[in-house]
Amino acid sequence: MRILVVEDEPTLKRTLIEGLKEYGYQSDEVDTLKDAEYYLGIRNYDLILMDWMLPDGDCIDIIPHIKSQNPKSVIVILSARDDAKSEVEALRQGADDYIKKPFDFEVLIARIEARLRFGSSSEIEISGLKINPEEEKIIYNGQEIELKGKPFEVLTHLARHRDQIVSKEQLLDAIWEEPELVTPNVIEVAINQIRQKMDKPLGITTIETVRRRGYRFCFPKKG
Ligand code: CA
Repeated sequence: MRILVVEDEPTLKRTLIEGLKEYGYQSDEVDTLKDAEYYLGIRNYDLILMDWMLPDGDCIDIIPHIKSQNPKSVIVILSARDDAKSEVEALRQGADDYIKKPFDFEVLIARIEARLRFGSSSEIEISGLKINPEEEKIIYNGQEIELKGKPFEVLTHLARHRDQIVSKEQLLDAIWEEPELVTPNVIEVAINQIRQKMDKPLGITTIETVRRRGYRFCFPKKG
């Protein structure tokens, strides 16, 4: 789960980044709308945490643009404005949640978790194949499979997006902490591990390579 924090107040920003890290979220931090737009252009974020008033403008002015470019990203606004009108305005612009400052960090995390719950912690079960992201555990017809780390995360991501072809870039972006520092080759290594450690011993096929486009979760394979 990757979060973009857009906040210009240094102390609060540091608290947010450190707190999010403690809860296991990867996050990037920026101070301005301009930098936020730059990061949104190069990375995918599951959630964007934005302060209302930024040095180069109000974040609510760019929400419709962000939503049109990143329809799956959840937007949570942090604001010192405690009037109902501002809250309504933010939600109507497309924000998914509105949190008034000052806020309790535990409450913020709980609201973020609630927003990300869909697809984040729930167990995936497909035709006898159970993937439990919280325990990093795979069980197929009662047998536990030893697949951990990045290959596990790649498998989980593909299983969650099983209706789609997912590109190497999208996988890097979703799973690696510093996607720009690794080569797309690491994806091939992870896929290979899934095939060697899981598919081969079980005699199943979970992931198919779609030439020049990426990978697709294909279990159970039809035909
Ligand atoms: Ca501010």
